[in-house]
Amino acid sequence: MTFDLLIRGANLPDGRVNQDIAIRGARIEAVEPGITAEAREVIEAEGHLLSPPFVDPHFHMDATLSLGLPRMNVSGTLLEGIALWGELRPTLTREAVVERALRYCDLAVSKGLLAVRSHVDVSDPKLVTVEALLEVRERVADYLDLQLVAFPQDGFYRCPEAEEALVRALDMGVEVVGGIPHFERTMEDGRASVEALCRIAADRGLRVDMHCDETDDPMSRHVETLAAQTVRFGLQGRVAGSHLTSMHSMDNYYVSKLLPLMAEAEMAAIPNPLINMMLQGRHDTYPKRRGLTRIPEMLAHGIPVALGQDCVLDPWYSMGTGDLLDVAHMAVHATQMGSAVDKTVLFDAVTEVPARVMGLEGYGLAPGCHADMVLLQGRDPAEAIRLRPNRLKVIRRGKVIAETAPERSRLGLAGRPDTVDPASYAPNAAS
Ligand SMILES: [Zn+2]
Repeated sequence: MTFDLLIRGANLPDGRVNQDIAIRGARIEAVEPGITAEAREVIEAEGHLLSPPFVDPHFHMDATLSLGLPRMNVSGTLLEGIALWGELRPTLTREAVVERALRYCDLAVSKGLLAVRSHVDVSDPKLVTVEALLEVRERVADYLDLQLVAFPQDGFYRCPEAEEALVRALDMGVEVVGGIPHFERTMEDGRASVEALCRIAADRGLRVDMHCDETDDPMSRHVETLAAQTVRFGLQGRVAGSHLTSMHSMDNYYVSKLLPLMAEAEMAAIPNPLINMMLQGRHDTYPKRRGLTRIPEMLAHGIPVALGQDCVLDPWYSMGTGDLLDVAHMAVHATQMGSAVDKTVLFDAVTEVPARVMGLEGYGLAPGCHADMVLLQGRDPAEAIRLRPNRLKVIRRGKVIAETAPERSRLGLAGRPDTVDPASYAPNAAS
């Protein structure tokens, strides 16, 4: 029996070591130690971590790589970012959006990021951004799964054209219903928008992913509304709340009631640690709130937590690398989740969990799954988050689509080693 590709001696994220992965065509056929069958191509993993691809459950591909157009965000706030995007939007062409998005996807693939849920702004009735990202979804389909969310950036009710444009975007093939209740003019409009958008999703059998309470307002109640409408419309397991940063500032008693409501609604949470650390707490002096939602407490309630990147080099965020391990790295610090078990949970939050939230088929490292995977220059999930190491091989449907040479620095120190491999320094117990 001859396989097309055999990867030998890999560590897997679940803790299994020295595993061989046999691939035929575009699928995984076997995962076990000591596979002796022949293969056309063999990759020696040498104890490095082999993971399913990274998955970004929250991104804005219509805005990415537009930093500086038409000017920089001076205050650094979410609201100036929205205003700046409003200045840029009328000047956007389909070609320019497609070109930037394709360039971003090149970067993503080099980092082993092979699935992205991107919100796409539907506030401009011309829907240039929607047409552009539908084209991108098609053009990258062989190497990256792009899922689109119809996102009324200027408010579903606040922007008069948004309701009609959102429905039209769904008709065009956008597959998830978005929203932004905290940006509506009143708490009541926000509540009504959550209800209307959940109704649209229920009628069409779609998933929901709303920017929900991306504020520091402890009194905002849209998370509660989203959980309640999820149950009311029978959308359990198909709804995600993105950001949820108001929960950072809420009263503890109130949160003790809210978390079980979210769990009951089988709602997923999508915090975005990089951008939330940058944007929240802007009206504080000191102490300055972090503005990240309550991740450990959600996990303790069985609420799925998937971490997103949100932005790379755009009106809201002047940083970003396309690397989901940067996101997990920030999450470790901002949540103080520092144990090896915690880090494995956060590694899952940028791989397995967002894949489930997006409903990706055939994702994972089990026989029968798509042969999509990433070999990292590190031994386990904790080390991967600590080092954010090179992606030695990125494999899609059984083919290597990106490679990076191992990082190795040469030393010129008398009596010391010639080279430094950053992945060789952790004591065995330190992961
Ligand atoms: Zn966002």
